Amino acid sequence: MKKNIKIRLFAKQKLNTELVWQPEEAQVHYLLNVLRLSEGDCIKIFDGQSGEYIGKICNCSKKSCSIQILEKTREMEVCPDLWLLFAPVKKDKTDFIIAGATELGVAKIVPTITRYTISEKVKKERYEAQVIEAAEQCRRLDIPLIEEPKSLEKILQNWPQERILYFMDETGNGENIQTAFQKENSSHKAAVLVGPEGGFSEEELQNLRQKDFAKGVSMGKRILRAETAALSALACWQALCGDWK
Ligand code: SAM
Repeated sequence: MKKNIKIRLFAKQKLNTELVWQPEEAQVHYLLNVLRLSEGDCIKIFDGQSGEYIGKICNCSKKSCSIQILEKTREMEVCPDLWLLFAPVKKDKTDFIIAGATELGVAKIVPTITRYTISEKVKKERYEAQVIEAAEQCRRLDIPLIEEPKSLEKILQNWPQERILYFMDETGNGENIQTAFQKENSSHKAAVLVGPEGGFSEEELQNLRQKDFAKGVSMGKRILRAETAALSALACWQALCGDWK
């Protein structure tokens, strides 16, 4: 019966089988009032560091409960070393990108401010809550890192040279996505960059094309919305080079 447990929460502290874990207030509310669980019910918990566990609800009162960690069910594993750099779009679309990128197994998300980025208001805490929720739901064991927003120019200046940067080039001048991703080295350290609704400026494209570590990629003749482009590129990478292979 324990194997069928669907409820899964993230713990911000390292767990072990000796521990009685204290969930946060919102998590207690979710367990006791939303899901109406009670003393003795079991849930899954993961900590992003040591794996996943089964725990039993105990010490229940109206507004609090604890979780007695019973056993470890999965050893820690991390997603492939793939980053997503995206220009923040409108709120609901950004939410979609963040949740989808987490499900698609990115290791890091970098909000990237480009010339035509319309939404520069980046709420890092909000993004962090969203990656946790998506990770809980999709059963991954690690949590993607969210970076502070940075300008594309600064990102390119400080880019780690050993990581290939695939920029999704809507002008059609990039390499076919399958060919680009299947070339040597791409399954190693990679990043996908997607522009805003207004696309990249000519100057940005020129700058990107001059970098040895960057490669322009085409996703065909149709122009995709930024959120479609981001998730499609990530899915292609996972299928050709990542953990869907
Ligand atoms: N305003 C641009 C235009 O009309 O050409 C379109 C920008 S598109 C909505 C947003 C981003 O998605 C682009 O900057 C690019 O990174 C990516 N994208 C969309 N369609 C693409 C395609 N067919 N190939 C490569 N990248 C694409």
